[in-house]
Amino acid sequence: MMAGFTYTAHPARVIFADTALDQLEAEAGRLGARRMLVITTPRQTGLMDTLTAALGDRVCGTFAGAAMHTPVDISDLAADTARTRKADLVVAAGGGSAIGLSKAVALRTGLPQLVIPTTYSGSEMTPILGETRNGQKQTQVSAKVLPQTVLYDVSLSLALPVHVSMTSGMNAIAHAVEALYARDRNPVISLLALEAIGAMAAALPAIHHTPDDGEARRKALYGAWLCGLCLGSVGMALHHKLCHTLGGSFALPHAETHTVLLPHALAYNAPAIPEVMHQLAGVLGSDPARRLQDLARATGAPVSLAEIGMPESGLQRAADIALSNPYWNPRPLEREAILALLRRAHDGSLPQ
Ligand code: NAD
Repeated sequence: MMAGFTYTAHPARVIFADTALDQLEAEAGRLGARRMLVITTPRQTGLMDTLTAALGDRVCGTFAGAAMHTPVDISDLAADTARTRKADLVVAAGGGSAIGLSKAVALRTGLPQLVIPTTYSGSEMTPILGETRNGQKQTQVSAKVLPQTVLYDVSLSLALPVHVSMTSGMNAIAHAVEALYARDRNPVISLLALEAIGAMAAALPAIHHTPDDGEARRKALYGAWLCGLCLGSVGMALHHKLCHTLGGSFALPHAETHTVLLPHALAYNAPAIPEVMHQLAGVLGSDPARRLQDLARATGAPVSLAEIGMPESGLQRAADIALSNPYWNPRPLEREAILALLRRAHDGSLPQ
């Protein structure tokens, strides 16, 4: 039991159901909305059609232009659309990209949000917004970007391609793992983190085997919700810093980078967090870092930075960037050890 802690709850109404979309109209009404701007990514036009059909003439505008890493020019355009159409609610459906745009519009306009996550990114549960301006991603934390209502609809997640499901699920697990050793960790979030890791680690192999396994999809979406709560509640450490470095400076794909790095970052921290490793072993099995890499390999997810486009020549620079302006971490950051970690991750070697 930790000696003392601070716990801040982020208010949000969460509806979790196999077909939560059935409750969309009622939930929008609960927020007093009459004019809704509906947001998706360009690929999710079918989902856009479903939402506009469900909401009928209360849709005042649609914006299917959400993009990865929330570029500010797109956010400005979407916010202008919301103002011009006199929207009183943002309804966003999709992964972290659609939800990121929804948050950016809320920040600019003060509008409430109802979001429908279709990946396991967890962004819907956090007061965090990362926006990209002139190629630089900057992150801010503000209660203004926290969605008011979240509808988790299991049936929508059935369409999530298996490859995206695996990496998105590993991305979620990374939030919960780092929450366990966060400097500002607390017993509530640690309980959620262990529950979340167990649920997601059990669901991913089942989804890999049978993508439309309803029970596995339910478990994964439940795990994603809890992982998002972890990310939104406590600080992240070395693993997230390395992922932000490689995503921001080497344009590596977000969820894949998390998948490859997590076992290595955990192994790096292991000597400083024996109690957490013991807790993780209870959920994942002995040698949790190795188990996470096994999970990625067994579900066809990437296990090396090389296979997701990281040039070997960039590893020294990546280590330098990760060490400049670092996040707090339970084990002190040692340049040579971080570089060795990155080399192992680059080659897909075992975590140690
Ligand atoms: P994404 O939202 O870009 O989705 C990946 C692709 O999958 C997109 O093309 C999307 O159209 C498609 N897709 C999504 N759901 C689908 C479904 N059910 N069926 C079929 N296709 C589907 O990717 P992501 O990994 O969910 O989100 C990544 C973004 O979210 C990044 O910009 C990241 O920085 C951000 N993020 C933010 C937070 C936060 O707290 N602020 C947390 C996690 C991630």
